[in-house]
Amino acid sequence: MGRQPLWRRVDFIPQVTYFKPDRIPSGRLSEVCLSVEEAEAIRLKDLERLEQGECGQRMNISRTTFARVLGSARQKMADAVLNGKAIRIEGGNFEMVVRRFRCNNGHEWDVPFEMMINSPPEFCPTCNTPSIMPIWPRGLGWGKRGGGRRRRGGRNW
Ligand SMILES: [Zn+2]
Repeated sequence: MGRQPLWRRVDFIPQVTYFKPDRIPSGRLSEVCLSVEEAEAIRLKDLERLEQGECGQRMNISRTTFARVLGSARQKMADAVLNGKAIRIEGGNFEMVVRRFRCNNGHEWDVPFEMMINSPPEFCPTCNTPSIMPIWPRGLGWGKRGGGRRRRGGRNW
């Protein structure tokens, strides 16, 4: 049985992805890393104040899984704030609600979450080239790191 990664659905990526406490020398600064889906869990539950079941539906995960993601997110935030650590938001197993793609001939198009999960695009719909890439949201230096999808075999983006 292959391990099937579970893609969480995310429709918001924070613009600011690094937070640093004041007056701590960088040599003594430690960091917690919040994944994008953990940030989304906090946003849905604590900012939008949705009910947990609904949050799970919005992220395409069960209520139990949502509770676990949320618990981990809150624990990390508390650790950072109370112990004076920096917070970095990056990575995770998620897909945007809509992912924009570009081919190497410059065509761009949008691919909805359900299609990304079930049959991700392999060719440009306009010119049929297989040289296509997802376009990551601005502000995240993920091009160098291989994207928000962790590489666990299968397709590389
Ligand atoms: Zn094209």
